[in-house]
Amino acid sequence: MLIDFVPTVNGVSLASAPAFQKAPGGAPANVAAGVAKLGQTAAFIGKVGDDEFGHMLAHTIAEAGVDIRGVRYDATARTALAFVTLRTDGEREFMFYRHPSADMLLRPDELDHDLIAQAQLFCFGSISLIAEPTRSALLAALDTAASSPTTTLVYDPNLRLPLWPSAEAAKAGILSIWNRAQIIKISDEELVFLTGENSDASARSLWHDNLKLLLVTEGRNGCKYFTAETSGRVPGFMVDAIDTTGAGDAFVAGLLTQLVQHPELWTDEGQLTAALRFANAAGALTTTQRGAIPALPTAKLVHALVAAG
Ligand code: ADP
Repeated sequence: MLIDFVPTVNGVSLASAPAFQKAPGGAPANVAAGVAKLGQTAAFIGKVGDDEFGHMLAHTIAEAGVDIRGVRYDATARTALAFVTLRTDGEREFMFYRHPSADMLLRPDELDHDLIAQAQLFCFGSISLIAEPTRSALLAALDTAASSPTTTLVYDPNLRLPLWPSAEAAKAGILSIWNRAQIIKISDEELVFLTGENSDASARSLWHDNLKLLLVTEGRNGCKYFTAETSGRVPGFMVDAIDTTGAGDAFVAGLLTQLVQHPELWTDEGQLTAALRFANAAGALTTTQRGAIPALPTAKLVHALVAAG
């Protein structure tokens, strides 16, 4: 969970931006807020600085309905900051302030293991793997989640190349916990990063024995799905996109809320494609407003888009 500083005008470099607006960010926090806004229970685990930004972030997700009992406050390091520009070619450019930031300093002994074991779904990313002690905290949390028979592990690696020492380290790091998850969501760009190409065969090459469902999101085109038995595509929704920040996180939030209601939906292709339509609609609606958390939709809005589409 961190603060994104976004320029007040589009298409400028970080150096030439006249001013920045602060926006709560960080994929796992967006996902937790998305789940809560969609009407299911969600908790967030992570660390922020014991500073005004850290408390503001915790307050923001609590307001969205997220349980923050797993949030820790570091007395020595600041809440992470990222300056983000949308360049004229549409690519995002990041500059992070993490030297170190509080999110890198979550210790294994700060985890609330009861909270983790209670979860029906435990969703995690790869950024927590980059530095100790948060790396060990994530691995300990994964052990607890995996030992709970009622918990399904969901992995959204969320590649942020500038945070890793090298591309090779990012790939090795992301793949180091690949086999822990029963459900994995990547984007088409991440598929190319991990395998060298965007194809059904390259997605299949990422399959592992413990996996139930692999999803590859494709921006406005929707997503592809792969199960042990089958694969297919679920088209996206046509909307007037103005800011794609948080679309992937809203997609994951939509998927998680569907999994709570239909825990083994990958075994029924009709149920699976209906769930992915819901997730696509959640992602699409998030692009129609600026920011991530403020743009996350309610279940009512998502159902309305699904019904209209
Ligand atoms: P990420 O944000 O992780 O890069 P994507 O850009 O693939 O992920 O978006 C995730 C999902 O959000 C897509 O599968 C799609 O359903 C929806 N989405 C994203 N961008 C758009 C868009 N421009 N129009 C409609 N839906 C979109």
